[in-house]
Amino acid sequence: MTITRKRFIGSLLAASGSVFLKACAHGEQSTGFEGSWQPAYAKLEEQGRLASRIDRAYASFEKCELCPRRCGTNRLAGQRGFCRAPAEAVVHSHQPHFGEELPLVGRNGSGTIFFSNCNLRCVFCQNWPIAHEGRGRAVSDERLADMMLDLQRKGCHNINLVTPTHVMPNILAATRIALKKGLRVPLCYNTGGYELPENIRLLDGIVDIYLPDLKYMDGREASRYAAAAEDYPALAQQSIMEMHRQVGDLVKGAGGVAERGLMVRHLVMPNNVAGTGEFVKWVAANLSRSTYVNIMSQYRVEHRAFEYPRIARAITAEEFLEAMLWAEETGLRNLDSRSLSQRDIFRRRLSVR
Ligand code: SF4
Repeated sequence: MTITRKRFIGSLLAASGSVFLKACAHGEQSTGFEGSWQPAYAKLEEQGRLASRIDRAYASFEKCELCPRRCGTNRLAGQRGFCRAPAEAVVHSHQPHFGEELPLVGRNGSGTIFFSNCNLRCVFCQNWPIAHEGRGRAVSDERLADMMLDLQRKGCHNINLVTPTHVMPNILAATRIALKKGLRVPLCYNTGGYELPENIRLLDGIVDIYLPDLKYMDGREASRYAAAAEDYPALAQQSIMEMHRQVGDLVKGAGGVAERGLMVRHLVMPNNVAGTGEFVKWVAANLSRSTYVNIMSQYRVEHRAFEYPRIARAITAEEFLEAMLWAEETGLRNLDSRSLSQRDIFRRRLSVR
């Protein structure tokens, strides 16, 4: 029997079972996750446990307690709580993003989906038109699933869910729809940190990468700058400990791309409003010294920050260097490479003066 070229390639695909080869055959970019690696949500689906999690999450919309604001609104009936979010996810944009932490970016970018609205609403928010004013478009869970698949087709190494807390049920439902159509990159839960630990427990076995902020270590500062969220430090810390329990320290695969684990962000603020010294001590004592920590230097006077004298300026080079020194003295040994580069730039700048 003569074997045609088409039949030969077809038999090769069937024999190998390799999604990678199929992806290449369709001109799609490789995410690096085409082999036997499975995302957490795929395993949970195999165990028949994903659908019930979605049901439990969706039930929260009837008396919304998806975050510590505990508004109790019936979002399915059109009511809106503090975050002003409807029951459908509102998406500002979805795209490969190259400005995230390098293990998320890899070669083809992090597949970010920017959700509109926010449950924290800091006065210095850099994304305030999206987070505070809710600019974006309401999408069905099916459309959200298509966005995930579109990002995977572009080779993105993860689905990076930016500000997910108030749309967590939609995300879970969309993930299951996308899984059935071939989604297999990890979910990255990119949260401002104002979470209820019990809701993070609902994500156990679904999320592979957690990317929380820990913005404030003092409830009075959180209350002042984040719409009376005095309980932010305690709840964010409990939630991050639960995330770490689920996924552990960051694990990277081929090309240094993140597969699973916890990555924590902390923005240094002027006049030590963020409590950076306390933050690094807390990480070392409650997580591990190997925790991936990104100490960020990019604070800017945005939105209404100019109304608050203590945060109405950028941070100084000295403030950032002091923050990095605290991190190193505490023994944190997995600091983000770009924060280390920024430290070196500031060091050179100060020694030149
Ligand atoms: S998610 Fe929104 S509506 Fe629900 S409790 Fe939080 S702020 Fe209120």
